[in-house]
Amino acid sequence: MKIGIPKAMITYEYPVLYHKFFELLGVQVVYSDETNSNILNDGIIYSIDETCLANKIYMGHVANLVKRSDKENIDYIFIPRVAFFDKKETVCVKFYALYDICKNIFDAHFITVNIDYSCHETEFKAFVNLGIKLGFSFSKTILAYKKAKKLQQEYDKANYEKQIKALSNKNILLVAHPYIEHDQYMGYPVVKFLKDNQFNVIYSDINNGMQTNNESYKELSKYLYWKYNKNLLNGIIEYSEKVDGIIFISTFPCGPDAMVNDLVIRKVKDKPILNLVVDEQDGSAGLYTRLESFIDILEQNKEEMGERI
Ligand code: SF4
Repeated sequence: MKIGIPKAMITYEYPVLYHKFFELLGVQVVYSDETNSNILNDGIIYSIDETCLANKIYMGHVANLVKRSDKENIDYIFIPRVAFFDKKETVCVKFYALYDICKNIFDAHFITVNIDYSCHETEFKAFVNLGIKLGFSFSKTILAYKKAKKLQQEYDKANYEKQIKALSNKNILLVAHPYIEHDQYMGYPVVKFLKDNQFNVIYSDINNGMQTNNESYKELSKYLYWKYNKNLLNGIIEYSEKVDGIIFISTFPCGPDAMVNDLVIRKVKDKPILNLVVDEQDGSAGLYTRLESFIDILEQNKEEMGERI
């Protein structure tokens, strides 16, 4: 059996869990290609204008797998449906809808996990149901899920430790969802530019709260209920003292990020902040001009600090 996974959005939140769950069941996993102009164009065609760029790119990745399905014998495309993790902890509504939208748009076989704690649909239950639906035994499915979950936790921990070790005297904190910062079209050009300019990039989503119920985000907002935005705020609290500046990257038009980023920018007063909003108009000149100016400010601040010391 072969499963296709779109390399976009939710996949970046749980890369090991998804991959290992299928692999441990003996299922072959293939991914959509890296984001490219064809994927972007298809995503725009298969989306409504009003949706965010990240969602459009996701649709392009699904289209990429649908096109490859016959030639590569892909049996199913995996589109998780993720909604609530707790009564007061949810995710952006785009994640609720992905599976139903794809089923209604594309002529392909889709499978899902339905994670919605508000209806007692836990992650454990969702993966067990999926394994059984694919024809695997109850015990084999449970073992695969538990092992994959453990491997995801170990991966997160190792990533965090690596990031802490890599902290240098020239750090920039990147505040963006992993599906934005690691995407070839949306965040990667920014990451590459910073690294080419000898800055160490610290990712806000990789922080000490990933494995615990860290609530340090409450220092910035007590009533936030988007799970992935809470995690980004935990990263800001943990790293803001250790970095020279903060760069936010969001996609147009993202409701949660527009609200949360604006709130943080008003509250974090002691660091230079750059707020980048990426859209589907391919024009990098303006982006690089803004990044260059921001880096100039950081370098100047460093020089002034050196003089004062
Ligand atoms: S959080 Fe923002 S970028 Fe992410 S899916 Fe929702 S609207 Fe799109």
